[in-house]
Amino acid sequence: MNLAQFTIHELHEQLKNRKTTSGELTRSVLQRIEAVESRIHAFTTVTAELALAQAEAADRWLRSGRPVHPLTGIPIALKDNLCTKGVRTTCASRILENFVPPYDATVVGRLKESGAVFIGKTNMDEFAMGSSTENSAWGLTANPWDLNRIPGGSSGGSAAAVAADACIAALGSDTGGSIRQPAAMCGVVGLKPTYGRVSRYGLVAFASSLDQIGPLTKDVTDCAILMKSISGSDSFDSTSADVPVENYTGLLNRDLSGLQIGIPKEYFIDGMDPEVLHAVKEAVRTMEKLGAKTREVLLPHTEYAIATYYILATAEASSNLARYDGVKYGSRAKPTKDLLEMYMKTRQAGFGPEVKRRIMLGTYALSSGYYDAYYRKAQCVRTLIKNDFDEAFKQVDVIVTPTAPSAAFKIGEKTKDPLQMYLSDIFTISVNIVGIPAVSMPCGFTQTGLPIGLQIMGRPFAEATVLNAAYAYEQATEWRKKKPNL
Ligand code: GLN
Repeated sequence: MNLAQFTIHELHEQLKNRKTTSGELTRSVLQRIEAVESRIHAFTTVTAELALAQAEAADRWLRSGRPVHPLTGIPIALKDNLCTKGVRTTCASRILENFVPPYDATVVGRLKESGAVFIGKTNMDEFAMGSSTENSAWGLTANPWDLNRIPGGSSGGSAAAVAADACIAALGSDTGGSIRQPAAMCGVVGLKPTYGRVSRYGLVAFASSLDQIGPLTKDVTDCAILMKSISGSDSFDSTSADVPVENYTGLLNRDLSGLQIGIPKEYFIDGMDPEVLHAVKEAVRTMEKLGAKTREVLLPHTEYAIATYYILATAEASSNLARYDGVKYGSRAKPTKDLLEMYMKTRQAGFGPEVKRRIMLGTYALSSGYYDAYYRKAQCVRTLIKNDFDEAFKQVDVIVTPTAPSAAFKIGEKTKDPLQMYLSDIFTISVNIVGIPAVSMPCGFTQTGLPIGLQIMGRPFAEATVLNAAYAYEQATEWRKKKPNL
């Protein structure tokens, strides 16, 4: 087996026991990128030189006999909206084409301290706005399971890279599903942590009350390892929570007896893809066999979730993206007559159509006279949606749903109809509106061989419970062993 095919925990054993070196591993991953990148285009930047230097440092550490972190020497990919000191961070936008951050995001700093190797920056929808990675200014990413299909989005590059063994694991960001939905489309594990669990410092902001950074990995154990290393409070992010980080890896092995699973009626709707429905129902049955109990729960405000999200997210985006004006941030358009023209030309040339659409929608929702009708009302509905979940979590420990209504769709299938695209987020966005954690993991394949995602949601800061349920299910099934034929 090629080294790039292993998981973090398997490679950690090999590195510790001197069966391989980080240098050898990093070279295998770079070779794999070389072999598949022309077909999947998962990366915006491959940092081969940096990775080899970091691998050398990791090997020195490994040889020194000092205690070794589970991530030491492991090649990780980073979504291109995570600031990396000295490495271009574009958010897949022309406006940030030449942006080289002078600092590392907190999560990047934490991974560096643990000795991880950075293999490159991954493609995404521009400013994380999208569900298919088709909104990248740098071109499409293909789904490794079927090159004519989208890898999901917005962290599509991270998910495709993990699925294709073009990295060992990756980080993404999730504002309305951008880790979980691509994880589902590409057959990998992806976790959106509780709001405040992971510092957002150095994550280029899309919608600050919804954004979280999280892992995309080949299995649940790797997800727990990465979560442990990136979680925890940070003085640079006032919304990061001072809640102790649990030993996620140590808590994976508990059995499921006594676990109460909620099945929300509103998430099993008519018109849903029958193969998805079947796979998710089977997964629930498997969890019942492992000792869990299921009951129906009600989330009656689900039908307002998409409308609420697309008002709040666009409002916050319109404000966050004001900084790209050619002065504070962004490549400045030249030549221009005066300041106003400079602003206009800079933003006109720098942003793609979806980003412009969102800035316009958000500006409208926040403008005088409309603020009460849209933004304020959406905030009120946000509370109603949260109340639904609070009630449900009085009765159950986790809530299980599909991650997405269908498997990966075809490239171009939804680009002409933004509303169709927005509707594909129906099962993921409430989690961000409410701020709770949720994981997506493979639970089967369609007849045409496309992965199907299972979503497990938990109470705030109950990542350990979510990962434990996911791990028990994973160990009882074989889905993780299937690889795309690339
Ligand atoms: N698809 C959603 C959107 O376009 C979610 C994106 C995300 O989570 N970053 O807003």
